[in-house]
Amino acid sequence: MSPMKTDYEPVIGLEVHCQVRTRSKMFCGCRTQFGEAPNALTCPVCLGHPGVLPVPNREAIVRTIQTGLLLSCDIDEFCKFDRKNYFYPDMPKNYQISQYDMPLCRGGGVTLDRFSFPKDAQDSPCAAARKRVRLTRIHLEEDVAKSTHFETTSGIDFNRAGTPLMEIVTEADIASPEEAFAFLTALRLMLVQAGVSDADMEKGQLRCDCNVSVRPRGQRAFGTKCEIKNMNSISGVRRALAYEIERQIEVLGAGGRITQETRRWDDGIGQTSTMRSKEEVHDYRYFPDPDLMPIKTSDGLLDEARTRLIELPIDRADRYTRAFEVTEYDASVLASDLDMALYFERASSGASNPKGIANYLLNDLLSALTSSGKVIADCPVRPEALRDLVSLIDGGKINSKQAKEVFKEMFETGAAPADIVKSRGLEQVSDTGAIEALARQAIDAHPGPAQDFLDGKASALNFLTGQVMKLSKGKANPKLASDIIERLLRSR
Ligand code: ADP
Ligand code: MG
Ligand code: ZN
Repeated sequence: MSPMKTDYEPVIGLEVHCQVRTRSKMFCGCRTQFGEAPNALTCPVCLGHPGVLPVPNREAIVRTIQTGLLLSCDIDEFCKFDRKNYFYPDMPKNYQISQYDMPLCRGGGVTLDRFSFPKDAQDSPCAAARKRVRLTRIHLEEDVAKSTHFETTSGIDFNRAGTPLMEIVTEADIASPEEAFAFLTALRLMLVQAGVSDADMEKGQLRCDCNVSVRPRGQRAFGTKCEIKNMNSISGVRRALAYEIERQIEVLGAGGRITQETRRWDDGIGQTSTMRSKEEVHDYRYFPDPDLMPIKTSDGLLDEARTRLIELPIDRADRYTRAFEVTEYDASVLASDLDMALYFERASSGASNPKGIANYLLNDLLSALTSSGKVIADCPVRPEALRDLVSLIDGGKINSKQAKEVFKEMFETGAAPADIVKSRGLEQVSDTGAIEALARQAIDAHPGPAQDFLDGKASALNFLTGQVMKLSKGKANPKLASDIIERLLRSR
């Protein structure tokens, strides 16, 4: 009997490479800028000429420590840079400056929340539990040059060479392609919000190697892993892992063995294929870089990183659900965009109905921004004005239909909602006497529906309320109108 897919479970560990956002490169003064003419941003240091001296970029070190603190890593007092020796055209000095046994950060982890999972997996049980993926380490190294292969030749662009690069390595804690997706989504959001990286995958600022093995369910020991190199999209990671897991299970199911190897993913055909096998694995002969002093993190670096801590998106979302009673989903949408989160917090400060503000923000305001091609940072409606609008609705001063009209003008002119209500004469009529007069008029004009209501047809009340709204030119408070009509009918 051949083993079923469910007899195996996958084990996944990721190595994430992330360019640190700095103005200049890791060991020279060249600018870090995407999209310049090839080799425009180079000097003897990042071109790997012999005899040049690297000077470490302090900002890159601080941002890496900052990332470590954000992800609850331990920061050792001493760290150092090592040379990782190999020969490849993208690294002409034949070694990459990296960190071996004394990385900047160790341990730590990333908590996966439901909304980091792919949309179609958010309701599965694995998304519901708040799982923590442990990190092994984060170290700092230099990015390498980028090769491009043409028909008969290849070109190398050194603009990227020497860009500070963090490598974030996870424990083999990830149990499915969907969890890998969630991990990368959550991680990326934190890096961006903390300002340590733009983490733009299309620009190659965030790349990932995926290590994956399968084992019979219930077995403790890991199976033999394969590594899928250089993934540059989060959904691609999910697809590649799903394919690779199935492939490994099929091999084992047919009585075969997995050999440890490096594979590449072709997103077009949706398959992984062998790049190189274990026999070709390098011995990098790491040794401390003699040109660089060990780093003493207590020398102000750690203190500076501590001043840059932010609230994690997941903690922010939890706070919103607790303090403002918004739904978990709304809270996660708000917390996923720092500008939007700050806007929401300003609008809700001192407000009696933050949930109403969140609703208005996530529906009307966001769609107005989208259709006018604006982002929240240049929103014409100030947060205080949105708060005032929601309290006009809550206080029964305007109804929700009028509110839409007011909001439209607020968005166009930036005027205050109370002023718009006044100048347009929109104030909702909550004067009982006035509404009662209109209600009598409606009942007299429509004796049929009035009788229907008394005969138990509840929808007739909506019809009569609609008539009162019409008579008031939309200004009547609909709740009040319906209450009064009901009272009048029942007392006849
Ligand atoms: P290597 O020595 O091949 O580089 P490491 O032990 O450094 O392997 O681990 C690299 C990554 O692979 C880590 O993220 C780790 O969690 C993961 N990993 C290690 N062993 C396995 C395995 N058997 N299955 C899946 N992932 C693994
Ligand atoms: Mg390794
Ligand atoms: Zn340079």
